[in-house]
Amino acid sequence: MRVGLGREGTVTHPTLELQVDLKSTCNDGSVRIGEAAARLGVATHVLRHWEDERVVIPLRSSSGHRDYAEEHLQRLRIVKSCQRLGLSLPEIRQILHRDEPGRVAVIDRRVGEIRRLRAELDMAERFLGHVRECRHDFITRCTECSAYAGTRGEIGSDA
Ligand SMILES: [Zn+2]
Repeated sequence: MRVGLGREGTVTHPTLELQVDLKSTCNDGSVRIGEAAARLGVATHVLRHWEDERVVIPLRSSSGHRDYAEEHLQRLRIVKSCQRLGLSLPEIRQILHRDEPGRVAVIDRRVGEIRRLRAELDMAERFLGHVRECRHDFITRCTECSAYAGTRGEIGSDA
């Protein structure tokens, strides 16, 4: 079933809301918060927090239960993936919809951070690869090893 999600995550499909109200066994595939959380591998309070942050807002049944349709579940999965990328909930909310202002800036900023992290990891790998083969008894006596330490700077100095 196609479910139209509005910009704030509200479902705009009128017939779905009707079906949600009629059902008690979720035979349209939508699930309650406990099942949605279990499928995602998170605690239910996480989904309530995402709702508070207006990232994923489920439907409400006539009895007041949260109902997550398949498109909500897919959205939850995307949010979880975006969190693994290091994006905050407000940032995720900004990138979920193409017309959201500031969307490109959020993405470009994160891509920039990912590139910086990649460069750091590459450097760390080269350093460790060198240390593995380093012929100095102490790495402090090796200029190459010391050079790596020199690139790290003091904490906060490059902020
Ligand atoms: Zn060395």
